[in-house]
Amino acid sequence: MSHGTPILNMAREQLAVAAKLLDLDEGLHQVLSRPKRALIVNFPVELDNGEIAAFEGYRVQHNTSRGPTKGGIRFHPDVDVEETTALAMWMTWKCAVANIPYGGAKGSVKVDTKKLSKRELEKLARRYATEINIVIGERGDIPAPDIGTNGQVMAWIMDTISMQVGFTTPGVVTGKPVALGGSEGRVEATGRGCIVAMEEAAKHLDLNLNGAKIVVQGFGNVGGIAAKIAEDRGAKIVGISDARCAIYNENGLPINELFQKYSGKDGGLAEYKEAQQISNSELLELSCDVLIPAAISAQITKENADKIKAKLIVEGANGPTTPEADHSLSDRGVLVVPDILANAGGVIVSYFEWVQDLQNFFWEEDHVNTNLDRIMRKSYADVHRMMNQHKTDMRTAALMIGVKRVSDATTMRGIFP
Ligand code: NAD
Repeated sequence: MSHGTPILNMAREQLAVAAKLLDLDEGLHQVLSRPKRALIVNFPVELDNGEIAAFEGYRVQHNTSRGPTKGGIRFHPDVDVEETTALAMWMTWKCAVANIPYGGAKGSVKVDTKKLSKRELEKLARRYATEINIVIGERGDIPAPDIGTNGQVMAWIMDTISMQVGFTTPGVVTGKPVALGGSEGRVEATGRGCIVAMEEAAKHLDLNLNGAKIVVQGFGNVGGIAAKIAEDRGAKIVGISDARCAIYNENGLPINELFQKYSGKDGGLAEYKEAQQISNSELLELSCDVLIPAAISAQITKENADKIKAKLIVEGANGPTTPEADHSLSDRGVLVVPDILANAGGVIVSYFEWVQDLQNFFWEEDHVNTNLDRIMRKSYADVHRMMNQHKTDMRTAALMIGVKRVSDATTMRGIFP
């Protein structure tokens, strides 16, 4: 592995800050700045026209001190092994902050899924699953969906591994359809968890969420669900966007209705004509109490950070705020609830899914949501305490908790042999 791409460098810089504040042993710091295992696979897929296409994929396992590794599989043309490593490292900290018994992993295949037919996508998923089967498994490393993959892809992977072992093994992946051992509440979990994090932060800021103005970037699984739940709880969503269009109404948008009609649909929010259309950059700078970036990374940057008017930012997406923007927001007293805490709801309910699969005993949705709520509030409280104790920002506090739990586990286990 080379010296690192910007995203891997960013993950390593964050680790270095936490390591310094924790006075972490330098050898352990070096170990944690690299993945435990990184598998690179090259494999062929026969396309519908009979041609053979070559694909490269990865499965990176960052750390196993606290349990098997867990992390999504991304199908995207821009992935590489270093980005996959950074994402695996963040998964380690995220699982440790939520105090669920996993280390972090991530998988990816360099592919533009828009260019594949459904049958080609299925063949690619099944062949990739077979290639990484030497490192995944319900006791060792449990993948889940990420960008470019979904419940259907997880179903194919589960079936592929089951065919190879000779019996059905639902616990090998999470994010499956409920009919195949998926969990009730998993689809909504990340957005739901974001709203719990927002409620906890609002308490500390003395912000009344009833009637509060909220802006959400992204109208998919995370942003759409977070907006819907916030509306149900009395907040006013004044702005929301998808990849094509952002809309604004200072009196609030009818989110439940918009979600049904436009989320994930062809024309998207641009089809809705009863609100003012604005650009995505204007959306981020709207006057509001809370901003939830829930689309893609690097949206709040040094260019727009000082124009953000929200008092509270809850990171639904992974990595929406750049380190320079973090400094500027922190100087102005804007509270940023970091991704590894705010969007942990997804991996928390994936953990519940895995537990249900291993026991073959399935929970009611209420039970899932109550336990998600409990873990999110406890994780928030742990991070908040660390933030006050070390007089630092919330991202650093969350990283410190994650790094400390992982390094404590390593030290307690002892260094083999
Ligand atoms: P999604 O594909 O369901 O939705 C993404 C939304 O963002 C869509 O509405 C899309 O139109 C919009 N979007 C894309 N590009 C945009 C742009 N340039 N500007 C504005 N909007 C844009 O994806 P998702 O599952 O909601 O994931 C969103 C983010 O949350 C990602 O960063 C993902 O890694 C992160 N995340 C997701 C989960 C999960 O469980 N789904 C868990 C943790 C983190």
